[in-house]
Amino acid sequence: MIEAPEAYNLSKQINETIQNKKIKQVIAAQSPHKFAWYNGDPGDYHNLLVDHHIVKAKAVGGFIHITAENSFLIFSEGVNLRYIEDLSLLPKKHQLLLEFTDLTALYASVQMYGGLLCTNEPVLENQYYQSALEKPYVLSNHFTYSYFSHLINDQSFSKLSLKAFLATEQRIPGLGNGVLQDILYEANLHHKQKVETLTDQHKKILYENIKSVLNNMMELGGRDTEKDLFGNPGNYITKVSKNTVGQPCPKCKQPIEKGNYLGGSIYFCNNCQSIF
Ligand SMILES: [Zn+2]
Repeated sequence: MIEAPEAYNLSKQINETIQNKKIKQVIAAQSPHKFAWYNGDPGDYHNLLVDHHIVKAKAVGGFIHITAENSFLIFSEGVNLRYIEDLSLLPKKHQLLLEFTDLTALYASVQMYGGLLCTNEPVLENQYYQSALEKPYVLSNHFTYSYFSHLINDQSFSKLSLKAFLATEQRIPGLGNGVLQDILYEANLHHKQKVETLTDQHKKILYENIKSVLNNMMELGGRDTEKDLFGNPGNYITKVSKNTVGQPCPKCKQPIEKGNYLGGSIYFCNNCQSIF
């Protein structure tokens, strides 16, 4: 799943690779997918984008926003984006294809679910995207301790577990269940720990680890469990993930465990992250 560090890296790669390319043809919804969401009729995407140049890509929380003159495209988590220089490499199934006049292409495919939105209206009516635009970007200096402290001390969240507080409801756009794993591991906190049991010091440590882990992931081109624009894994080596389950914890040598909580897999060290 694309989260903040991957959205940042993919946007950077898009700017380095397809900026200024001219769109020759667009095919949307070629392979039907129950959970691929389009904005309006995907059959209109060609007319919205044809002959436009790619101007710029940017990350908005966990979304990727690509401007193509007066139209724009927005991709949400769950969408795989790939660039190819040879159309014969195009897989049979995809949910969106942008073919450029130089015969290179960008295509998108959806794993479980994902949004591939295109419009030429100034505002996109999508509550998650709007919320990501309005809230401080977690990778920027706008995501301050004062902002985080205000959020975590909100009484309406006190009964929530850390996973529910941090990685659901787009409370912190771009921070999802993927990046959460190493953040909690580094902070020595468990997913099920209740927000109300944390001291001020825990909250400070948690904030510092959100910043440092996400910055590391961003600088290293995303996590090793996710792929970039060219299909290569990121260079950030995850500490607790599907890649390390069963291996010794780097801090205490007990095996990394896998569990299931709030509709997703969690990875943790039961010793370093014990619930108090
Ligand atoms: Zn440990």
